[in-house]
Amino acid sequence: MSKKLWSASALLADGWANNVEIEIDESGYIVNIASGIPYQQGERHSVLIPGIGNVHSHAHQRAMSGLGERAGVLADGSQDSFWTWRKVMYHYLERIQPEHLHSIASQLYLEMLKHGYTCVGEFQYLHHDVDGSFYDNRAEMSLQCLQAARDVGLGFTALPVLYRYGGFGDAEPLDGQKRFLNDADGFVEIVTQLQKTCENDGNSSVGIAPHSLRAINQNLLSEVINQLGVESLAAIHVHVSEQTREVDDCLAWSGKRPVEWLFEHFNVNQQWCLIHATHLNNAETSAMANSGCVAGLCPTTEANLGDGFFNVIDYFRQQGNWAVGSDSHISIDPVEELRWLEYGQRLLTRNRNVLVSEQQRNTGRNLLNGAWQGAALACGRKIGRIEIGYRADFVALDDSHPRLYGRKQDDLLDSWIFSGNENLVKDVYVGGKRVIQNGCHANEASISNKYRQTLDQLAE
Ligand SMILES: [Zn+2]
Repeated sequence: MSKKLWSASALLADGWANNVEIEIDESGYIVNIASGIPYQQGERHSVLIPGIGNVHSHAHQRAMSGLGERAGVLADGSQDSFWTWRKVMYHYLERIQPEHLHSIASQLYLEMLKHGYTCVGEFQYLHHDVDGSFYDNRAEMSLQCLQAARDVGLGFTALPVLYRYGGFGDAEPLDGQKRFLNDADGFVEIVTQLQKTCENDGNSSVGIAPHSLRAINQNLLSEVINQLGVESLAAIHVHVSEQTREVDDCLAWSGKRPVEWLFEHFNVNQQWCLIHATHLNNAETSAMANSGCVAGLCPTTEANLGDGFFNVIDYFRQQGNWAVGSDSHISIDPVEELRWLEYGQRLLTRNRNVLVSEQQRNTGRNLLNGAWQGAALACGRKIGRIEIGYRADFVALDDSHPRLYGRKQDDLLDSWIFSGNENLVKDVYVGGKRVIQNGCHANEASISNKYRQTLDQLAE
């Protein structure tokens, strides 16, 4: 049975419309849209916009978010700004088991839904047991994340991570990396398991994530892509050029900068999502923009880690695709990612309304347009538009809230992105199912209780 919902105002693919009735089929796709229809029955909203895709997540890091903020001092007296972060990370890496990951991911995905993310790209590298031995099901850890997404009702793009080496030039991995490692056959097994589990599920897709150029080599990634068949992959995500040291190491190893190397050795196109890509020269910026690949930007994490600024003004000028991710989960809110993407540029250029375009002069709306479009590419899914044939993934904003009251259409979106810190997301739909109602999820209390127990266990 199909269902219908109605909204006084909705942002459709061709613009804002009033009194909109949307019909959704049983499998969660939009099958009809009509505007100018008086409300008759069913679920009723005031302002409906597409749900936002979160293209970069490491779910397990949610357990440690906020614990890396104390600087240490090394033996030689110099500052080690990554000191607590590394210590905390290894503490958790030595403890997290499948049931813990399910619990952490459930809490995280619930928080994503509540803030208007309707889909996550889960860049999952914690594959094996603590000593590096395989779980009975080699895809166990990624399947736990998928199950958590299904349990809370979040759209999901599985991005199991291909990780084999400890540095450029096939350096041997370190002891602390043994949970991450796979050869080509073992990795293909993980992807195949996930593909089987996601078959016929409109809410999920499966891609791959070579961790970084440090962790793979050309032959390994080529072999994996050939074995799986490039057309079977929803997307290919890779961390690239996040910090200047990576650029220097890549230059020393190959004579090329990371993005340069990637474009010379692989056919980088719309199927690819380059995470961070913080340190680009002009040629690399143009290569990315022209290829149609997506820049996976994570402004709050990049700020938290002190990475630097993505070359966003030039990239926008060349109409490059991009999307946002919450990465380390120090913030789980698309508002903060988009706001800081713009604010970083205002501070750098001493201008206002920097990230607008010829067609779209409202900054908040322009940023949302980019994030919607880029996430659809980076997740390989029919999301990010309220249009027939797309997933019924929506966010209903609370326009009676004092922060939004009296605001309409693009001004309302600008106010959402740039005004205040309350969560103004009221209802959220994924695949036609209402998963957040009046700001709440049906299983919120039990998920959060379980999460607290998990943290207690991991603290031991
Ligand atoms: Zn990452």
